[in-house]
Amino acid sequence: MNVPYFRPSISEAEINEVVDSLRSGWLTTGPKVARFERAFAEAIGAPYSVALNSCTAALHLGLEAIGLKRGEMVLAPTMTFAATAEVARYFDAVPVFVDCGHDLNISPAELERTIAAIRAGQRVAGLNPPYGSIRAIIPMHYGGYCCDMRAIMEIANRHQIAVIEDAAHAFPASFRSDSDSEWLSAGRFGKVGCFSFYANKCITTGEGGMAVTDDPALTERIRLMSLHGMSKDAWKRYTAQGSWFYELIAPGFKYNLTDLAAAIGLHQLARAEEFRLARERIARSYNERFQRLPQLETPAGDADTRVHSWHLYVLRLRLDTLTIDRARFIDELKARGVACSVHWLPLHLHLYYRQTYGLGEGLFPVAEREWQRLISLPIFPDMRNDELEYVCSTVEEVVAKYAR
Ligand SMILES: *Cc1c(COP(=O)(O)O)cnc(C)c1O
Repeated sequence: MNVPYFRPSISEAEINEVVDSLRSGWLTTGPKVARFERAFAEAIGAPYSVALNSCTAALHLGLEAIGLKRGEMVLAPTMTFAATAEVARYFDAVPVFVDCGHDLNISPAELERTIAAIRAGQRVAGLNPPYGSIRAIIPMHYGGYCCDMRAIMEIANRHQIAVIEDAAHAFPASFRSDSDSEWLSAGRFGKVGCFSFYANKCITTGEGGMAVTDDPALTERIRLMSLHGMSKDAWKRYTAQGSWFYELIAPGFKYNLTDLAAAIGLHQLARAEEFRLARERIARSYNERFQRLPQLETPAGDADTRVHSWHLYVLRLRLDTLTIDRARFIDELKARGVACSVHWLPLHLHLYYRQTYGLGEGLFPVAEREWQRLISLPIFPDMRNDELEYVCSTVEEVVAKYAR
């Protein structure tokens, strides 16, 4: 049997809606994007949302909207995807990496320590003073398990630093401080929440993203910069609702979502909780099977304070109990037809950041230790029971063969 790492769940409803868009003649940003924006905002309880062609675009425009300038500092986890930190480089701003905790999310204690060290003019994360001002923190909800947003917002507010959430994995996902507090959706804590609808994310539009915020001024700026800095979008320009006139207010970007993509998104959105429940069921099965094996560590989580999106199911190897390393473990699974992934080689170990900032081994011990034992297993809503069973028995077989 072959089990892919991911298979998107596309129903007839998505297909028919795309065909409807094609037949309507309205292909780019139009009425379906407007509907998708409203429906998404409603789903996470946000007053404003702007649909974009990626989460990377949302992160970029979020930083642009808060006025990030060259030389300023942006705090980001090292345990994340390229996009989280590269967006700071778009401004020639400085990404300052922060280690993760055992949950693989940015560590609030390390965040606090890093800010204090910068303010004290000490050497941090491979950087030397003089420092620019700290403008933003970009927490990323690893795998769809929310960061401790109570701790992060407390730090950000105390130091007056804007928070832009990388919620690429976190839909739907929620956090509350304790069982007496209200749930709040990921993406609703910071100034801007950024979501991804890339092909293998929780819901997909092929490529796509969303920026959500409470702030009408930020919304307006993000919308403006998503379409060349034009004062009106194409839909308004060419319909009875607007005129032909537009004005360039800033040199913007080309980040708008198409109606073709929104057509898919509308139906994916309607199925988002059903998808989440399906992934949760798979995660429970994996946990049950793998908790029995001392060679494996299953993801820990606090269900009292988190609704987990289960975008990723990340198994950790106890390397000292096995005769093979993680790379070999993945090869063994692959040879048996089970596709896996790794999230991620920490950013500070990548060539670009090594060369640009002199970063490298020894700076972030938790990320450096943990990443070497991470394996992301297949988890997607249409995973069949025989596929799930095959992944479980294959992992067990590889563990049994290479147990010390
Ligand atoms: C996928 C991903 C992104 C980027 O999303 P795109 O929509 O592909 O731009 C950003 N951050 C994280 C953590 C991601 O996994």
